[in-house]
Amino acid sequence: MSGKRRTDRIRAGSDVLHERATRVLAGGVNSPVRAFKAVGGSPVFVERMAGAYVYDVDGNEYVDLVGSWGPAIVGHAHPEVVAAVTVAAARGLSFGACHAAEADLAEMVVGALPSVDVVRFVNSGTEASMSAIRLARGVTGRSRVLKFIGCYHGHVDGLLVAAGSGAATFGAPDSAGVPDSYAQETLLAPYNDLAAAERIMDEYGRGVAAILVEPVAGNMGYVEPVAGFLDGLRSLCDRHGSLLVFDEVMTGFRVAWGGYQNICGVRPDITCLGKVVGGGMPVAAYGGPRALMEQVSPLGPVYQAGTLSGNPLGMAAGVATLRLCAVEGFYGALQEKASVLTAGLQHAATASGFSVQTGSIGGMLGMAFTDRPVHDFMDAEACDHDLYAKFFRQMLDRGVWLPPSGYEAMFVSSAHDDRAIDRVVSAAHASFTDLSA
Ligand SMILES: *Cc1c(COP(=O)(O)O)cnc(C)c1O
Repeated sequence: MSGKRRTDRIRAGSDVLHERATRVLAGGVNSPVRAFKAVGGSPVFVERMAGAYVYDVDGNEYVDLVGSWGPAIVGHAHPEVVAAVTVAAARGLSFGACHAAEADLAEMVVGALPSVDVVRFVNSGTEASMSAIRLARGVTGRSRVLKFIGCYHGHVDGLLVAAGSGAATFGAPDSAGVPDSYAQETLLAPYNDLAAAERIMDEYGRGVAAILVEPVAGNMGYVEPVAGFLDGLRSLCDRHGSLLVFDEVMTGFRVAWGGYQNICGVRPDITCLGKVVGGGMPVAAYGGPRALMEQVSPLGPVYQAGTLSGNPLGMAAGVATLRLCAVEGFYGALQEKASVLTAGLQHAATASGFSVQTGSIGGMLGMAFTDRPVHDFMDAEACDHDLYAKFFRQMLDRGVWLPPSGYEAMFVSSAHDDRAIDRVVSAAHASFTDLSA
């Protein structure tokens, strides 16, 4: 029994669907990374996901380390979440009017985040960061935003600016269709480089409405903040009268109850949430102190609205998910799973002579193919992304669902038991062994 052949997945059904999809969907997908461009091959079509597992249309099973890019923190199709959404669905899919579950979820968010008194629900992380910036601009009367190279805040025009060398201060758009004038409102510093942020703020601070940051970066691989970075940004904002926005769309309720701000102790002015807070439904949020949030319409002059915002299915999924996360010991257990997994991956790589950097906080983890620590986007770019692509395909054939790009973080859920984690680690051993041959 030759290990590789025996475990190769057959994906004929996926290929047929991919054909169909490419004829009628832009690039065959509704979000670019799903197209597998970074890892080669054609995308795998999913029939269903349950617990820690993905099942494709050809009947193959995979251990999931993507978690729908973060939301699936209690595993896919958790019976309590499904039940809550089912009950809500029977009462109407969308009200466009006030209902109790909006306050239920808002109370949970406000209770979990000391920096947030008042919250507004929206439908995507993109919308949350877009609205947070509008609010920061509205209250400061300033237009510029400082962001960090490699941080992703959704496909907001002025935030699709990240490329170029670490020295670039002003952004050039990353995407066609973004006017230079928008990109000019975005200032850039390398992640974890407080000195660079200080220099920029010293020069432009008077015009900066907000410093926007992922408190743990998860969109250039997995990059932890170095000691003093987030505190330093807090002081910079205080000194220059700018608002500090933590984009916790990925880290919120993922790395800890509330978010990373509850670990690092730094209080942002505005927090963006998404992913876990909606439990798999299109829900996101932004929030902050009452006086600030009262600047949002209908109380204040900063306009923001949404037909489907706070819709009953999303609120139900969020409440049911957060209830499961609120159980004593939930995040400790998740951290334990992530640690066992990263140690296993690390060991599998080392055993075959590969160098990787691993790390995890709560249910968020990363593995970078490099022998040096990754602190910023330049470090992330220097990783061996070709090797990641090969590893991805090997792992896919062995039944592990990794993110289809080396610039993504990985996630575990409470549904990942020892068996699931063992399967990932054995697949990693076999894959690294093959790659070293
Ligand atoms: C996913 C993500 C977003 C965008 O959220 P969408 O719901 O995809 O629009 C924004 N910020 C961060 C940090 C994210 O991880």
